[in-house]
Amino acid sequence: MREAGRLVAQALDKVRQAIAPGVTTGELNRLVSEHFEAHKAVPLFKGVPSSMRGKPAFPAVICASVNEQVVHGIPGSRELKDGDVIAIDTGCRLAGWCGDSAFTFAVGRISEDKQRLLDVTRQTLELSIERMKTAKTWSEVAQDMAEFVRGHGMSVIEQFVGHGIGQSMHEEPQVPNYVSESLRKQDFALEPGLVLAIEPMVALGTKNVRVLPDGWTVETTDRRAAAHFEHTVAITSDGPRVLTLLED
Ligand code: MG
Ligand code: MG
Repeated sequence: MREAGRLVAQALDKVRQAIAPGVTTGELNRLVSEHFEAHKAVPLFKGVPSSMRGKPAFPAVICASVNEQVVHGIPGSRELKDGDVIAIDTGCRLAGWCGDSAFTFAVGRISEDKQRLLDVTRQTLELSIERMKTAKTWSEVAQDMAEFVRGHGMSVIEQFVGHGIGQSMHEEPQVPNYVSESLRKQDFALEPGLVLAIEPMVALGTKNVRVLPDGWTVETTDRRAAAHFEHTVAITSDGPRVLTLLED
């Protein structure tokens, strides 16, 4: 899983280097597609069926979600503009094992609000990994993630959650970024051997979201900006190990 995760990290690094005003989201998709192909890795997003009836399967190897888009944006001819933030999410399977990671990038100069949003969301992911060193169950981690976000006056997106990951991208358990009744019932122990895709999604305004008519793109209903960061993290006998870093 580390090797799959490394390829995903390299793909996001290529995106980071390419992002600039005027670049299209479709060009970023092509970069990642070529990277996976060159390493004989199978992209995980392309062909995923829509949860909405009659809508097409996901057509690309990355999700590219700009500004008020939270997740599942479809890359295409849209050109990035100075001041945009763009969340890129991608995953691949290599030799039977999966990696999944996301990062939200600034395009040119962004507003102070958007910079705070990116900082808080990235720090939420970092604190979750740190907290896994001592927490016994996931709800302890989720509680701290949600408190951190709300303490900065921002919202945790609740409609989408992280997940277990292994030979499939989406495995049990569900990994929410907040504590609810359902998590209290389905809480799980953080034990060696478990691998989780942890993916906080945070909004500057409302946590409420809707799906656009394309059947995929999720945006905030107040259309204020959202951010998304994700790592694939294995729990080992030495503690959490992030599998989607460039180097370790
Ligand atoms: Mg992902
Ligand atoms: Mg994921």
